Amino acid sequence: MTTRKQLWFLTGSQGLYGPEVLEQVADNSKALVAKLDAAGLIADVVWKPVLTNREDILRTVLEANADPGCIGIIAWMHTFSPAKMWISGLEALQVPLLHLHTQPADELPWASIDMDFMNLNQAAHGDREFGYIESRLGVARKTITGSLNDPAVLHRIAIWARAALAAAAGRQMRLVRFGDNMRNVAVTEGDKVEAERVFGVSINTYGVNDLAAAIAEVGDAEAESLAAEYEQCYDVVAQLRRGGARHDALVYGAKQELALLSFLKAHDATAFTTNFEDLGALKQLPGLAVQRLSAAGYGFGAEGDWKTAILVRLAKVMGQGLPGGASLMEDYTYHLVPGEEKILGAHMLEVCPSLSAKRPSLQIHPLGIGGRDDPVRLVFTADAGPGIVVGLADMGERFRLTLNTVELVEPDAPLLKLQVARAVWRPDPNFHTSTECWLNAGAPHHTCMFTVPDAKELFVDYAQLAGVELALIAADTTAKSFSDELRWNQAYYHLARGF
Ligand code: MN
Repeated sequence: MTTRKQLWFLTGSQGLYGPEVLEQVADNSKALVAKLDAAGLIADVVWKPVLTNREDILRTVLEANADPGCIGIIAWMHTFSPAKMWISGLEALQVPLLHLHTQPADELPWASIDMDFMNLNQAAHGDREFGYIESRLGVARKTITGSLNDPAVLHRIAIWARAALAAAAGRQMRLVRFGDNMRNVAVTEGDKVEAERVFGVSINTYGVNDLAAAIAEVGDAEAESLAAEYEQCYDVVAQLRRGGARHDALVYGAKQELALLSFLKAHDATAFTTNFEDLGALKQLPGLAVQRLSAAGYGFGAEGDWKTAILVRLAKVMGQGLPGGASLMEDYTYHLVPGEEKILGAHMLEVCPSLSAKRPSLQIHPLGIGGRDDPVRLVFTADAGPGIVVGLADMGERFRLTLNTVELVEPDAPLLKLQVARAVWRPDPNFHTSTECWLNAGAPHHTCMFTVPDAKELFVDYAQLAGVELALIAADTTAKSFSDELRWNQAYYHLARGF
């Protein structure tokens, strides 16, 4: 298991108040840290000594940048902290910043309040001074205001902390591509150099026959043992079970999983892509193996789509420990009956079973695409409930995330002949506005479907701290407001580049 990461809590003040007040400031900020830590954030909150001069501020920021355990900073100006002393530190800051605007106690002591109390509890203008210098310097940050006794405030901080963890995971992410992109497809292409700058992800291609060679190395006993595990976890059709006529195909699927896992571990990778057009010596297009690794937390994109693989991995990191799942999804076909419109999404094989709490069925069927042996795959329908789809497109001069909130629903009737994992959903605010906005944004047909609570807020926070455009299609979106937003973004991202 990886060790828990840290969020450093920085308290701003100044020397003018004298040591007694600064001790009180330190005690109060330690009490806030205790409240944050008790809130069960995804990372530990670590208190740092109160900052009263620019040398200490710069040194603390540089330490945060250099410490791989530190995924972000929470800054709070308990008292007045003249912000010129924050300039060099904020200019050097490379980790995500949350500006927390709060006070040690919620209630004003109306009857006893005096100027000492006022001078100690002046975040109301200390944080405004800090906000000024953040804005003047153009520092990307999330601002959250209110009492730490308010569960809604703590919840917003918890969401930001998960987004900060994803940003850190991105900076460590290595993505293995088996083969290149599907030939002639536009939207799955993109600038991998820029992706490493923006998302931190190192994306590199490997020969699929390296994987085929690794599969050939997996022993029968090890694969049989994993196949036996499949029989515990899934409803395995009779012909694939031990002694069944097609059990060999399942054993080959198990070898694919074991070889893929060891390949990814050997390359320290947390995301990968495959391409059905480039299968080398692989006997089956990997279906079950991809689904299993995706469920274990790896990011995956099909047809060489490394951008969706990044999104799925980020979602896995942000959603860890929460109910719901994250998967590659593809907008496939529509139920277009007026007033009942729905989207049916699936892929050739590879949708992640984390989208369903039910027990999937493990089956084997022919696959027209790829021209290899029949591949084994998990078959299920994603659970009903709220979720999002989010897609990443390379617009040439920048990346654009497009996010649509959706409601997953049960199919209108059992899907008796659709032998792949799938999801059915109604997009917000309605089918017409959603699809018209999606097409106008140039958003892709491959997405990450993400069904944990607060899935939208997690990606909104992630996009903000990664500095990536996010076009949001939600319940209150109109076609007019959305196309206006695209136009403004177009101007903003051109201008912001030169700043
Ligand atoms: Mn596809």
